[in-house]
Amino acid sequence: MSETRRITVAKGDGIGPEITSVVLDVLKASGAPLEYDFIRVGKDVYLEGIKSGIPESAWVNMAQNGVFLKGPITTPQGGGYKSLNVTIRKTMGLFANVRPVKSLSPFVATSFPKMDIVVIRENEEDLYAGIEHQQTTEVVQCLKLVSRPGCEKIIRYAFEYARAYGRKKVTCMTKDNIMKQTDGMFHAIFDKMSKEYPEIEADHYIIDIGSARIANRPEQFDVIVTLNLYGDIISDITAEIAGSVGMGGSANVGTDFAMFEAIHGSAPDIAGKNIANPSGMLHGACMMLVHLNMPEYAEKIQKALYRTIEDGIHTGDLKSELTKKVVGTKEFGKAVVERLGKSPEKLKVTKPTSHKITISVKPPSKLVKSLIGVDVFLDWTDCDRDPEVLGKLLESVEADNLRLKVITNRGVKVYPHGRLETFRTDHWRCRFVAKEAREGNGEVTHPDNQIRYSTIVKLLGQLEKTGLNFIKIENLYNFNGKRCYSLAQGE
Ligand code: NAD
Repeated sequence: MSETRRITVAKGDGIGPEITSVVLDVLKASGAPLEYDFIRVGKDVYLEGIKSGIPESAWVNMAQNGVFLKGPITTPQGGGYKSLNVTIRKTMGLFANVRPVKSLSPFVATSFPKMDIVVIRENEEDLYAGIEHQQTTEVVQCLKLVSRPGCEKIIRYAFEYARAYGRKKVTCMTKDNIMKQTDGMFHAIFDKMSKEYPEIEADHYIIDIGSARIANRPEQFDVIVTLNLYGDIISDITAEIAGSVGMGGSANVGTDFAMFEAIHGSAPDIAGKNIANPSGMLHGACMMLVHLNMPEYAEKIQKALYRTIEDGIHTGDLKSELTKKVVGTKEFGKAVVERLGKSPEKLKVTKPTSHKITISVKPPSKLVKSLIGVDVFLDWTDCDRDPEVLGKLLESVEADNLRLKVITNRGVKVYPHGRLETFRTDHWRCRFVAKEAREGNGEVTHPDNQIRYSTIVKLLGQLEKTGLNFIKIENLYNFNGKRCYSLAQGE
């Protein structure tokens, strides 16, 4: 008999209160030994002026209970509101987002009756760092931050998950043909770590063809591990092609805290109409019960849910020729409660088992870092944006041993010897490197070619005197003697 656990619950916005109410009814009727603390987060809290959407008391309660069942939340558009979901995931260290999607064919219509995929998405980093700036009249930027410990944690988690749950294959998806540093690190760590799990097949797809394959042949995938943005997108694709985005559940897992929800959002277009499908959040609740080491209740609920679907009792989004009765959210919930204790006759429920997956990551050994140049970004629109003019001006700027090497616009070389056809914005990246670096193969590998930070400060002073408007700089480093920044297209 499991011990009673107290959990935190937020009903959410839009369809949130309707589906949460069903989920709580089912949980209570299942006999799961849970007690509930309700917190207010989301739209109303945002509109009261709390920009995170989360009052202090909610944080305290979540931290005390360690488990949070959350209805979907509406992020108000504009107005500087940060997504509450992203804030909770990052603040509470929920590094792994686990999104299983399994076909319930033929009762949920899908072209892929055999699909059974778990998307494991990195949940804290990547473009979701949310660091964005407008830099010039024409150009805005968003920083993609990826850390080595972040990659190690999620990839280790994916392999440990596969091992614990008897999965056969882990597929990594990245775009490392373009993003060689960020996605490249993710892929390299995946390749290295996969060798520690010889019983599990490991492969890699570039995310574009990988997503296309998921959309067309999802049966060939088992566990997929990927970066934050790609994982967000492909998990919606997997839920949708399995029959409905309303079916998928999601676990956000950290070391001491976990949050469970549906994959979908607050669906404002159908809110208040009693037509939303509560199955996604019910699946999330079952994942929570497994996490709480109460797998018997997860199994009971899942069997009742499958039996309801098998009996042809469907919410509108599941309507097909096997539907016997289209019901509302509440009525669907009642049908599940009535079936608690029954099993589906055709759909198979895999007996859930609770596995504690503990991940520890050692800090990487420190690399030797040498500063060998700087990219200075300028806001410049003079002289019909002629790169030859800017190039000549910058060639004349002297700062110790720093010299202009290349100018790019949106990453493409425009000086020296650029092409006139290249479209030029007001945002210029001007690469300065130590003079010696221009010899040989153009790469600096020797620490003698290091420059000082004071040289960069001197360079910026000279640029200001020349009347140039710099926006920001990025230092160029070698780590352990190896170039660790991208070359410009055409450099
Ligand atoms: P959405 O997932 O809310 O809706 C997309 C489509 O799917 C809509 O047509 C909707 O009616 C339908 N749908 C979603 N859930 C359904 C269900 N249970 N049953 C039947 N149909 C369902 O995505 P959106 O419209 O892009 O986002 C709406 C809001 O939700 C936004 O404010 C967004 O920021 C937020 N959001 C929150 C979460 C979360 O809380 N984890 C996740 C995604 C989006």
